[in-house]
Amino acid sequence: MHSSDDVLTRGAFIDGEWIARSENGGFIESVNPANGRVWAKVPDSGAAEIDAAVQAADRALHHSNWSRLAASERGAMLYRYSQLITERRDEIAAAEVSDAGLTLADARTDVGAAAAWFRYFAGLADKIEGTTVPAKPDWHAYTMREPVGVVGAILPWNAPTLMYSWKVAPALAAGNTIVVKPAELTPISALLLAEIALEAGIPPGVLNVVPGYGNTAGEALVAHPKVAKIAFTGEHRTAQHIAKVAADTLKRLSCECGGKAPHIIMADANLPKAANAAASSAFRRAGQSCALGSRIFVQETVHAEFVDLLAQAAEKIRVGDPLDPDTDVGPQASQAQLSKTLSYVDIAHEEKSDLVFGGRKPDEPALADGFYVLPTLFDNVGNDTRLAQEEVFGPVAAVIPFAGEKDVIEAANNVIYGLTAGLWTRDLGTAHRMGRALKAGSIWTNVYPAVHWSLPYGGVKLSGYGRENGLAVMNEYTSTKTVVVNIEDDDE
Ligand code: NDP
Repeated sequence: MHSSDDVLTRGAFIDGEWIARSENGGFIESVNPANGRVWAKVPDSGAAEIDAAVQAADRALHHSNWSRLAASERGAMLYRYSQLITERRDEIAAAEVSDAGLTLADARTDVGAAAAWFRYFAGLADKIEGTTVPAKPDWHAYTMREPVGVVGAILPWNAPTLMYSWKVAPALAAGNTIVVKPAELTPISALLLAEIALEAGIPPGVLNVVPGYGNTAGEALVAHPKVAKIAFTGEHRTAQHIAKVAADTLKRLSCECGGKAPHIIMADANLPKAANAAASSAFRRAGQSCALGSRIFVQETVHAEFVDLLAQAAEKIRVGDPLDPDTDVGPQASQAQLSKTLSYVDIAHEEKSDLVFGGRKPDEPALADGFYVLPTLFDNVGNDTRLAQEEVFGPVAAVIPFAGEKDVIEAANNVIYGLTAGLWTRDLGTAHRMGRALKAGSIWTNVYPAVHWSLPYGGVKLSGYGRENGLAVMNEYTSTKTVVVNIEDDDE
């Protein structure tokens, strides 16, 4: 790493080497969303660099010690990696603040979580087992789980370190090699993590990080015939396009796309607790989370009381400089995201929803150059409005009143997404009945969010397919081989 004129410059990481320039000679600049200034730049890598990285990953898969390593040794390496990530937590977190605009507290939490993800999958590396199958008396039949091959990971900008760990940890634990394409807005943490991987003893070529644009580097990775699987997190329209490109080589694809989560408050819920969770889940991380609880369904009998509680909870949220330890919410990650978020405020006004608070940039002169927006709540929002149906990816939430259980289930499911859903009730029957009826990959009752390395996570409908985390993700990164040996005695 080196810097000139205060701009940090990093190369691509291919086959254990730092590649300072791409073939096209261009660079991608990363803007600090807290002040709008360029703080880092990386090579604008394209098809040539992706090909070099994939060839390196393919060689590492077939010809390096990686493929001959005992699974327990692979696990030990990943465990060491997790320890080194923890040791360099502040450095990675600082990069995340400048790149993505996460608050220092959120960035430190993410780096700590990434280390925990590597720890979990380090432990899993030597527990990926097959089965014996009693198909016929004379057959010794068994299955074994093999790595799929070279994995391509395409990351979003909203939680770069965490999303890196969600893909790299299970992929390497299963014995694959990987090429990571971070988002153009946030390339630095993945490059730092690549440097740490080398220190942890992960051999050259096993892990490669190639920064570049989605439609060049990303697409070249998806199209590459030597890539066996793409693990993608991002927008569903990008996933739809990627699925078409991946079809030509019939490669595996898992995609974690957006969400528009219903967060349902039944009248019997612990309302103050639910209000705190609803405010924090709608506004935390400046609303830039796929699990955002941005459709807050409130039962009519407690509607007014709950909106009051929400306003009180939101009032305590401090928007400001992400480096200030008192800040709860930093800026939007880019000017484009800020414009998109503010456009939904206009849309909600046009749709005649009632603004309760927020709806604009903060007044403080110190925040004027950053991409900040205040936590924003609209009340009496119709479920068929754009605010209730479309993913804003900013801190703009909608309160939608409802009469009873049947109505809310129908309304909550009436959306193109299905990633997560939240429910607050003290009634056990309601909890399980509604848990079954809600269409989402995860249902969180009396807690929101509830993400954990051991719990499968992923969507239904346009939120995508495939699962991350837990034992379930190992299906995505291994393929099952069936072996049959005829043990019939020829002499009988
Ligand atoms: P995008 O879909 O725009 O981008 C995601 C990644 O795909 C980026 O690295 C992007 O590159 C790349 N990409 C873009 N076009 C192509 C292409 N043609 N071929 C290959 N790769 C491509 O999403 P965002 O980065 O804007 O992330 C926000 C979205 O991600 C939100 O919708 C959010 O809900 C979702 N998300 C989902 C999560 C989940 O777990 N389900 C978690 C986090 C976010 P580039 O950076 O150059 O655009």
